[in-house]
Amino acid sequence: MTAATIIDGKLLAGTLRKAVRGEVARLSRTERLTPGLAVVLVGDDPASNIYVRSKAQQTEEVGMKSFVHRLPADVREGELLTLIQGLNNDHRVHGILVQLPLPSHVRSDVVLQSVDPEKDVDGFHVVNAGRLAAGIDGAMVPCTPSGCLQIIKSIRPHLGAQQALIVGRSNIVGKPMALLLLAEDCTVTIAHSRTADLPSACRQADILIAAVGKPHLIRGTWIKPGAVVVDVGINRVTDASGKTRLLGDVAFAEAVGVAGAITPVPGGVGPMTVACLLRNTLIAACRSRRIDIPDLYLTHAAMRNCEF
Ligand code: NAD
Repeated sequence: MTAATIIDGKLLAGTLRKAVRGEVARLSRTERLTPGLAVVLVGDDPASNIYVRSKAQQTEEVGMKSFVHRLPADVREGELLTLIQGLNNDHRVHGILVQLPLPSHVRSDVVLQSVDPEKDVDGFHVVNAGRLAAGIDGAMVPCTPSGCLQIIKSIRPHLGAQQALIVGRSNIVGKPMALLLLAEDCTVTIAHSRTADLPSACRQADILIAAVGKPHLIRGTWIKPGAVVVDVGINRVTDASGKTRLLGDVAFAEAVGVAGAITPVPGGVGPMTVACLLRNTLIAACRSRRIDIPDLYLTHAAMRNCEF
C-alpha cells in the first residue's frame, strides 16, 4: 500500500507568515500602520504559557506589535473585563486574544463576548460566528478551522461533491469547520460523542477532520482509502519511561498506510493556527483604517511549491 503524503504544516505556516510579513512591511511603509496583537493570559498553566510565548514571538517576527498581559489565576472577572475594555479602546491594538482555558471562577462566555467583534481575531464573538454562519462578508474566521481549510486545499483545491466528516462539535473547531467546508460545496457531516457508529461514518469520508481530544481514537481501519485526514487533536500523554509526548486523535502509524494525505501531530495543524491568527490581525488592522484587505489565502500554486 502506498504511504500517504504527510502534510508539512510548518512549511505551509512559514509560507503564510512570509506573506503576512510582506504585507505588514507594506502597511508600515505606505500607511504608517503597524498591526498590534494583544494576548491576555490568566494564571500560570504551563501549556498556555508556551502558546502565549510562541504567539508573541511570531507576532514580532512578522513585524507586528505584541502586547502580552499576564494576570494572576485569582483575578476578579471585573478586572479582566476592565482590561479588555481598555484594549478595545486602544488604537495600537487591532487584535485581542484571550488565552483559554480561563480559571473556573471566571465566566469564559462573558469574557469572550466583551471583546470588540472587530478586534476578535479568534472569531469567537457571536457577531463573527453569526456572520460566518450566514455567509455574510466580514466574519473573523476562527484560526484553527481556517488553517485546516488551507491544509485541505493544499491537497485538494476543489472540494465540491466531497464527503466531509468532522469529528467534534465545539464552537472553536467543529462547528466553524463545518461551515467553511459547506461554503466549499462539501457534503458535511458532524460526528460527536453520541454518534452511533463512528467507524462507519469515518469510512464514508473523503475529507476527515478529527477534533476530539482523545489520543488515537480514530483507527487506520476506519479511514477511506485515499482520504485527506486532518488531525486537530493535541493530547499530552506520558509514556512508560515518564516522557511526555504529544499524540493526535488519529492513530497516525495505521492511518498513514491508508489515507491519501495526513497531517502529523505535532507539526500539522498547530503551526497553521498561529499563522492564521497573524493573518486575522493583519485583516483587523486593515479594516480599522478601511484599507483594502490583501488576499492572503495561499493559492494552490503557492502551496504546491511547498513540497511535502
Ligand atoms: P472540545 O472538548 O470542546 O470538543 C470535543 C468534541 O469531541 C466534542 O464535541 C465531543 O462531542 C467530541 N467527542 C468526545 N468524545 C468523542 C468520541 N468518543 N467520539 C466522537 N466524538 C467525541 O475540544 P476542542 O476545543 O474542539 O478541541 C479538540 C481537540 O483539538 C483537543 O485535543 C484540543 O487540544 C485540540 N485543538 C488543537 C488546536 C490546534 O491548533 N492544533 C486548536 C484547538 C483545539
